[in-house]
Amino acid sequence: MSRFPIERIEVRILDIPTIRPHKLSFGSISRQSPVIVQLWLSNGACGFGEAATIGGPSWNEESPEGIQHAINAYLAPALRGQDGACFESALTHMDLACKGNAFAKSAVEMALIDAVSRSLNLPAWQLLGGKRHQSLPLAWTLASGDVSRDLEEAQLRLAQKRHRIFKIKIGARSPAEDVAHVSQIARGLAGQATLTVDINQAWDGNTARRYLPQLIDAGVTLIEQPVAKWNVEALKILTATLGDRASIMADETVCTPQDAMLLARAQACHVFSLKVAKHGGLLRTRQVAAVADAADIGWYGGTMLETSIGSAAAAHLFSTLGTQHHGCELFGPQLLVDDIVTERMTIRDFELQLPDGPGFGVEVDIGQLNRFDRARTSLTPVHIDLGQRATIF
Ligand SMILES: [Mg+2]
Repeated sequence: MSRFPIERIEVRILDIPTIRPHKLSFGSISRQSPVIVQLWLSNGACGFGEAATIGGPSWNEESPEGIQHAINAYLAPALRGQDGACFESALTHMDLACKGNAFAKSAVEMALIDAVSRSLNLPAWQLLGGKRHQSLPLAWTLASGDVSRDLEEAQLRLAQKRHRIFKIKIGARSPAEDVAHVSQIARGLAGQATLTVDINQAWDGNTARRYLPQLIDAGVTLIEQPVAKWNVEALKILTATLGDRASIMADETVCTPQDAMLLARAQACHVFSLKVAKHGGLLRTRQVAAVADAADIGWYGGTMLETSIGSAAAAHLFSTLGTQHHGCELFGPQLLVDDIVTERMTIRDFELQLPDGPGFGVEVDIGQLNRFDRARTSLTPVHIDLGQRATIF
């Protein structure tokens, strides 16, 4: 007999402006449009899940509108009446109803785990293997595209003891301009911070082989997704040749556990960027992390710039993983003008503190959900601003 029958699933898209434009190799965003799932069990417990994309379908194939449709039309009907406590069985039902759609499935699975944890009055980490970290070093991304603004932002965050790992988004300009930009920031922060770059697939193998040593000379120690997601061969060469000076991190290349196995076999990176949405949920993120652990690959707690719901869920999962970590970047809530929970997660001494209450340990403010709900505003779907190439809005 089912202990926690799933009764109802609702989904909505929010539109929340960012505090400043956030520039990546493929464009710039000035608002986030997270998809928020609310799931009720027949015992009355309610859980929340989230899938955030960056610039609609610009980061990968799924868009907020597609996620909402996949859940309403296929995933929610497949789960109605199923036992919510049988997480793997719920994933199987969703896989039978719908191929792919990892982001949509992750939002539903997240809401399910939140609802069941709340039914048991337990924090979600207890259902995910048990916590091994109470806090994780928290990175901040410098992505204004302007050196003096980036340095000002970094100095403020150092003074506030919030961040001392800074990730710089590059790849939109010429590689020589990027090297100059990163070098200026590195000089300004010398001895005070660790520097990472994320190229978001913008370079080919030759460009990466030529310019990454210059970034390493400038002081960069972690290099994220320099080449296209399919270009495992280039990742393998970079890992072998630059490995004694800096670490290569796969992000877009590592989505499924099978991707993780392929990279592990090829020894094509030193670190996996783990993101709950791209892996298709909290449990599958654990599977990818298990491959990393078995292959002596480190992990990094990545973000799709989620609100406090998705960020807290990821924090619960990351708290259960092994010790070979490179910190996390669950700073999404800080990039948004306002939040949808009553109390944000705490950042203390440069580390994100695990919110330890029932479920994911954060309480959703329904008034704030309604305030940003696209269905209640006149906003149109979010587009990426392609900068030099085109202006969409
Ligand atoms: Mg990335």
